[in-house]
Order: sequence, then structure tokens, then C-alpha cells
Amino acid sequence: MDEVQRSRKPLIFYYGIFMLILMLFNFIVLPWILQRQIREVDYGTFMSMTENSQIGQVQVQHNQIIFTNKENTVLYKTGIMNDPGLVDRLYSSGAEFTSEIIEQMSPFLSILLSWVLPIIIIIGVGQYMAKKFMNKAGGGNALTFGKSNAKIYVQSLEGIKFSDVAGADEAKESLTEIVDYLHNPEKYKEIGASMPKGVLLVGPPGTGKTMLAKAVAGESNVPFFSIAGSEFVEMFVGMGASKVRDLFKQAKEKAPCIVFIDEIDAIGKKRDGNFGGNDEREQTLNQLLTEMDGFEENTGVVILAATNRPESLDPALTRPGRFDRRVPVDLPDLKGREEILKVHAKKTKLAEDVDFNKIARMASGASGAELANIINEAALRAVRDNRYLVTQADLEESIEVVIAGYQKKNAILSDEEKWAVAYHEIGHALVAAKQSNSAPVQKITIIPRTSGALGYTMQVDEGDRYLMSKEEIENRIATFTGGRAAEEVALGSMTTGASNDIEQATKLARAMITRFGMSEEFGMVAMETVNNQYLGGDTSLACSAETQAKIDKAVVAIINKQHEKARKILMDNRGKLDELAKHLYEKETITGTEFMEIVNA
Ligand code: ADP
Repeated sequence: MDEVQRSRKPLIFYYGIFMLILMLFNFIVLPWILQRQIREVDYGTFMSMTENSQIGQVQVQHNQIIFTNKENTVLYKTGIMNDPGLVDRLYSSGAEFTSEIIEQMSPFLSILLSWVLPIIIIIGVGQYMAKKFMNKAGGGNALTFGKSNAKIYVQSLEGIKFSDVAGADEAKESLTEIVDYLHNPEKYKEIGASMPKGVLLVGPPGTGKTMLAKAVAGESNVPFFSIAGSEFVEMFVGMGASKVRDLFKQAKEKAPCIVFIDEIDAIGKKRDGNFGGNDEREQTLNQLLTEMDGFEENTGVVILAATNRPESLDPALTRPGRFDRRVPVDLPDLKGREEILKVHAKKTKLAEDVDFNKIARMASGASGAELANIINEAALRAVRDNRYLVTQADLEESIEVVIAGYQKKNAILSDEEKWAVAYHEIGHALVAAKQSNSAPVQKITIIPRTSGALGYTMQVDEGDRYLMSKEEIENRIATFTGGRAAEEVALGSMTTGASNDIEQATKLARAMITRFGMSEEFGMVAMETVNNQYLGGDTSLACSAETQAKIDKAVVAIINKQHEKARKILMDNRGKLDELAKHLYEKETITGTEFMEIVNA
């Protein structure tokens, strides 16, 4: 797509440039040109011309003498000599003393160079810039403040289409209607149906919201205005509002078209009664609300907006008549992940052994942007190794790079630490494997990563999971505690390596009680609410202090019970634990198959 951005230089900028050019001409170019016209002669010639009364005008400067012939047609210069009677001799020869000899010599040239030429240049450059930037951007005047700096993507053949957006079938389906409307608004007008003015795309970062909006424009073959919510908010109060006005004015001129506002929560946050709030943001929001009400239905302008914090939006913005349609764009499921990988791998040269299904299963929970990144990392790895094809191993390694960072080449663990990490990781894997409901282990490694992980156990689910039973959650908690349990069982000590496991196990156990209603004591009462569904899912407690204390106790009880279970599993399989840990210690990375062979041997 051709991207065109509007110029927004204020008037003062152009005045500045004009003055600069003017000064340049008057102080440098003009004197230089005139200097070049002057003929240099020796002092003797000057003296004899004075004797013979051949001098017309003369100007004695501190380091040179400039003079003309009697007819004032030729300009001469010569150096200064210690010549006391010079002035008298010049006077008696009839020379005319002057201080502006050069300007008088060529008044026309000097006016031309110092005034006319700079003006012509400025007008020429101005015209060129105006033509270049304005025409495509829909006309308008560059010399004004408060212009929206929306980028316009003028439709071209390489525009993004729905087929470029893999997965997200439901979202595409809802948006197809918009495309149809933009193609054929009459059909809708006739029957009296009106298109939603605004569509809100909500979902976690990197799931393809921007891409979908571009694809709508690409499919409908209409101009696409794109602006980020934060671009409206400026230092000066009132600028945001004027940008909104300008954006809608442009959009209406270009209708049918699509306006895309990314990260709309930057301006669309709930207005609250707090003093010292952000005036600028509120004014901008108010203007947006007014503009959205202001344009009639079926004008052909459709506003798409994206956010990953829909709960923070002002209710006035999401009411029918403004953003009345909400399209969720969720993290891709297994099939979606596989498709996204395939779309991004189109340009990549792949080896025969690449199995996208397996990669998609390994990358559970990854967003479209992360999957695109995985493919790219794999390609980079192949280049680093001087290979022409991307292999399955490249892809698997790049998942680890995206999840855990690069391998730390020179992190040296002491022998003791290495044993501790080996036992820790085998502890997780063995507890997972011995509980029938846990997912099988894909890979265990004790090579430190740049993320700080000293080792990890990678589990791969067979398919997508939408529900988890209470037992499965408990087993998962037991698996989290398995690392520490192995250290205790085998080494009789504890290390700091379990901190992340502890955090995750605690989160799960707490959620069991406060959100999933899985404890007998509290039953189906919500004690916690999720704040940012799409951004990490922080929670806030909504219960009394006494209940909180009780919940804490219950969480401890759940985790202790699972920890005990994990310890028991490991003690019952002490032989295997030692054998596996030794194997891992020696090889540093073992696959799931190797692991299971030893377990089942
Ligand atoms: P968002 O706006 O939701 O944060 P983007 O639309 O900017 O995400 O997506 C970022 C990048 O991720 C895209 O440029 C694309 O390469 C990749 N991507 C995300 N989702 C998909 C998808 N469904 N199909 C193909 N590529 C995707």
C-alpha cells in the first residue's frame, strides 16, 4: 500500500526558511558574484589612471581600493599603499568618491539576486511540496495547526486481504458484512438497514487486529485512514479535538472509507469525576463522541478501533450508535496457530521434515505476532548456520528462543548447581508423567537461557484445552511443586530455583478458590475479579479481610497437599529419579521420547 503522510509544518517554519535564504543571498552569494566581476590591477596602473584622469568613481576601503573607469563600465580593485597624497590627487583628477560603488555598478543585478531570486525559489519549493503532499492526502492547507496526522493507505494491488489473516474466522465473518456494505451501500439503504458506525476490535496484543482492519480496507478497495489513539493527545489543550474534527472532515470527503483508530483506550478511557484529570484527553473524547453522532448513517465512513482494554472504555463510546459492534479477536487456537505459521512460512524455504502441527502444539498460547516471530527466528538461525532450508529443529529452537530467550553461551554453573537444576527439572517431568492426566513431556534441558531460566521442562498438549477439571488443576500444581520436591528428596536441600514455580502454583490454587468455586468452604462465590482480561489478567480481591485470611490458609493447604503428593511420587520412584537426573546431567538436553523410555524401562 502506498503510505502518504500529511505535512504539518506551521507557518513560522516557512517564514524561517525564507529569512534564511534571503540572508544567504545577501551576505554570501551576492558579494561573491560581484567580487568575481572585479578586475584586479597593480597599484602602478591605478596611479597612472589617476594621473591621466581616467577614474570615474572610487571607494577607499581599509584593505583595498575599488574604482571604475571614466565611463563607469569596468570595475577595478587594487591593494592599499602608504600614499599620503592619494586623496588630493584623486580629487584633482575629477574622481567621484562614493561608498556604494558595487551596488551602483549593477543595481539591477543586486536587486535580482537579493530579493527576486529567493522569492522565486521559495514559491517554487512551496508549490512542489504542496503538490506532492496535499493532492494525495485529499487537499487542504499545510499552513495550519491541529491537523490530524492520520496516515492514509491508498488502496493498491498489494493491499492486505482476508486471506493474509490466518485463523480468526469468526472475526473475519463479522467483518465481511462491513466489506459488503462498503461495496454496495445502496442495497442496505434500500431495505432501511444501517451499518454500524463503529466496530471495536478487542483482544490481546499481536492477535492481528490492525491486520484485520487493513484487510477490511483491502477487500473493500477503499481508502484507509490509520491513526493511533495516543497521537490525538498533544501538549496543547484543544489540539486533540481539532485533530479529531479534521480526521472526520477528511474521511467524509473520501467516503466510502475506513478510519482505523489503534489503541483507542488512550483517548477513550472512562471519564471520572477526579479533579486534575486529563483535560486534553476528555476534550478529545468528547469531540470523538460528537463527531460519531454527527455524521449520518450510511455516509460510507466506517470506524474501526482496536483495544486490548475494552473494560476501561467510556460507556458513552460503546453505546449503540457509536461503537455498537464488538468483534473479539482472541489468541489463535491450534488450527489457527497452524494456519498462521503456514501463512508466514510462505516466503520461507522449508525442509521436508517441518511439521507445523507439532510446532503449533508446542507454541500453545502464542499470539499471531509471536508465531510470525518464531518463523523469522528459525530462518535467521538457518542463515547463521549457512543452510538454505529451515528445518524442524530450527523452528523448535526458535520457540524456545521466543519463550525463554537465547542460550547463554558462557554461563558456567558449578557442579553442585548443575545437579540441583537437573534434579529440579526431572522432578517436574517425573511428577507430570506419573500423574496420568498431565501432558507428556516434550523436552527437558538444563542449558541456561538469557531469560534467567537455568533449565526448563517443556510440555506439549495434544490439542486445545478449553476446560480444566479440578483434578487436572491439582495435578498441575503438583507438577509445579515437583521441582522443589525432587531437590528435597534427592539432595535434602532447597534452592531459589523454584520461585517461579511457587508463583504459578499459588496463582492456580488461589484461582481455584476465588474464581473457579472449587473449594467446599467458599463454594461458588467470586472473591476476585479479573481486571485486564487481555493484558496478563491481574486480579483484585473483593472480600473482607477475614475472608482473605481464610483464603490464604486454604491456598496454603492446597499447595501443601500437592507438594506432599509430588514428594510421595518421587520417593516411590527414587531409582528412576536418580537415573533420569544423571542422564540429564550428562546430556544437558533430553527429548520426551528418551525420557519416557527410561521411565518405562
Ligand atoms: P494487533 O493490532 O492485534 O496488536 P497486529 O495486527 O499489529 O496485532 O499484528 C502484528 C503482526 O502479527 C502482524 O503484522 C502479523 O505479521 C502477525 N499476525 C497477527 N495475527 C495474525 C494472523 N491472524 N494471521 C497472520 N499474521 C498475523
